[in-house]
Amino acid sequence: MQEFDPHVLDEKPIPPPADFAKKARIGSMEEYEEMYAAAAADPQAFWAEEAKNIDWFEQPTKVLDWKVPHAKWFVGGKLNVSHNCLDRHLEKNENKPALLWEAEDGATLQLTYAELHERVCQFANVLLSLGVKPTDCVAIYMPMIPELPIAMLACARVGAVHSIVFGGFSAVALADRIADAKSKILITADGGFRRGKVVALKDTADAALEKCPTIQKSIVVKRTGEKVAWKDGRDLWWHELVEKSPKDCPAPAFDSEHPLFILYTSGTTGKPKGVLHTSAGYLLQTQWSTRLVFDLRDDDVYWCTADIGWVTGHSYMVYGPLANAASIVMYEGAPDFPRKDRFWDIIERYKVSIFYSSATAVRAFMAWGMEWIDPHDLSSLRLLGTVGEPINPAAWKWYSEAIGKGKCPIVDTWWQTETGSIMISPLPGATPTKPGCATKPLPGVAARVVTMQGESVKPGETGYLILERPWPSMLRTIYGDDERFQRDYWSRIPGVYFTGDAAQIDKDGYIWVLGRVDDVIKVAGHRLSSMEIESALVSHPAVAEAAVVARPDDIKGEAIVTFVILRSGHKPSKELRAALSDHIATTIGTIARPAEIHFADLLPKTRSGKIMRRLLREVAQKGAISGDTTTLEDLSVIDRLAKAKGIDEE
Ligand code: ATP
Ligand code: MG
Repeated sequence: MQEFDPHVLDEKPIPPPADFAKKARIGSMEEYEEMYAAAAADPQAFWAEEAKNIDWFEQPTKVLDWKVPHAKWFVGGKLNVSHNCLDRHLEKNENKPALLWEAEDGATLQLTYAELHERVCQFANVLLSLGVKPTDCVAIYMPMIPELPIAMLACARVGAVHSIVFGGFSAVALADRIADAKSKILITADGGFRRGKVVALKDTADAALEKCPTIQKSIVVKRTGEKVAWKDGRDLWWHELVEKSPKDCPAPAFDSEHPLFILYTSGTTGKPKGVLHTSAGYLLQTQWSTRLVFDLRDDDVYWCTADIGWVTGHSYMVYGPLANAASIVMYEGAPDFPRKDRFWDIIERYKVSIFYSSATAVRAFMAWGMEWIDPHDLSSLRLLGTVGEPINPAAWKWYSEAIGKGKCPIVDTWWQTETGSIMISPLPGATPTKPGCATKPLPGVAARVVTMQGESVKPGETGYLILERPWPSMLRTIYGDDERFQRDYWSRIPGVYFTGDAAQIDKDGYIWVLGRVDDVIKVAGHRLSSMEIESALVSHPAVAEAAVVARPDDIKGEAIVTFVILRSGHKPSKELRAALSDHIATTIGTIARPAEIHFADLLPKTRSGKIMRRLLREVAQKGAISGDTTTLEDLSVIDRLAKAKGIDEE
């Protein structure tokens, strides 16, 4: 791993906006470094200090019990996660808005902490009345409606383990996940709204339940009012159950390591894994990182646009913000409904101050253009965040200018379903940022970029991103497959956590996440990251989106294959293909010239918006796919790509 990667080393750090830094929780690099050093010197003391911000029913007797790869945090402690997100806020924040919900059709619902607490208690009593016991698994398959966080917190209250399956998944994907987690109860809705159309969730859920013998009851929220099939004895209306249900529900004490939820990863690299998270460590670290990374204040209006079906929604829409008594905005529908300015309209009306979205979304906003943004007053914003994929520098700069108006710091947060909370990110008032870079690990996080032998790489060399020490919100296992947990994460480089991501470190010690390990392409001995080539492509004015993979090549080892989606107004042509190839050669080097450039109308993406390069790789190599496609957003895309490739080739 020798090669030199100029873009990584050249970026000049941008200091945090001075006004922001003055008022920030952590306002300088010295403060960050002090905190980082203290945490590194004595991690257990560091986390024990942070653990004081949790309401314990019984104090832990030991901070960490660690035998690679199994961690127990805050041993002997007892708590209730729902109490920590609700009850403890009632004294001071009873009337503070907890949830500011907006339906796709514009209807709204606002719940104060007192009201959210009451609804959670009522639904917790429903779960108890149906015989739900601690550690029972409850599957949740719902649209983005208030009943979703209510259901989560009610599960946490009674010690049930929730397994949320994103509402866009098919019956097969839902059935697989229900079977894997052995869920006893399903919570769903008659339907949801997306771009003004009804999504018939219950039909899909019913089809899944035909293959799910473990499910005893299916609780259905009435959202659309459409007629739905009904199975007596199994199906129950949410509103009928809640009506009869008492409003008081004690929050019993559970062990620190009591399981909180199972969540399946998005499946960009293989079959989704049921990641298991437990109570105290997860709550503590999401609460702490929300405060630190988003510089959260009492009067912030916080909006994380992720669907709760993904880990970002779990950690930074529900548990982290609510544990901090924040006011959270929740939106039911699509960002382009009824028009492409829906998000900016919401920010203006709710006076959103913190906006956390995905790199894919930022690229879409950029493609839609300023005409949707300019008419709106976005002056309430003070901080922007991104997550999910490397954000290319051009999109980062656009986000900073077009949305942040140059005054909002951007936190590019690197983390995974498995890590439970943000691991690498700027601290907005302290860390000088570099567009496209997640910068430095948070205090308490021991991240390094290493060779397969575990040795640190030099600046500009590509290596594997690892985490060296256990952290409170780490996954405890892969549900039902502890062997895979050990093999995938703790054995590649013995004794350390293997993230599966490739990265580089630059001369300032900044970590640049390049993408998945298998997205690194080796051409004639040079290691190139697919993300870097994609980034070069989308900096060309004709290109809206691009995905880059490798196929074997007899001479060079691997050859670069690119799939390109053009911006409106541009047409595929031989000339454009040549121009794009030249553009890559001048931006990165002739070594990165693609062997093939295909014009496509769509890319295979997961339902969380991530490009599934493993599928593209199969298309590039074999013209068809055999891998797991349950998380694919649009199944027809593969045929269309294979066809596009055929046509291109003529
Ligand atoms: P699977 O593990 O099933 O293939 P997945 O990795 O896409 O799915 P997630 O846990 O949702 O599922 O995603 C975590 C991954 O997303 C990280 O490992 C990384 O590759 C990418 N990622 C997330 N945030 C960032 C970021 N800020 N910069 C670069 N990459 C990021
Ligand atoms: Mg992953």
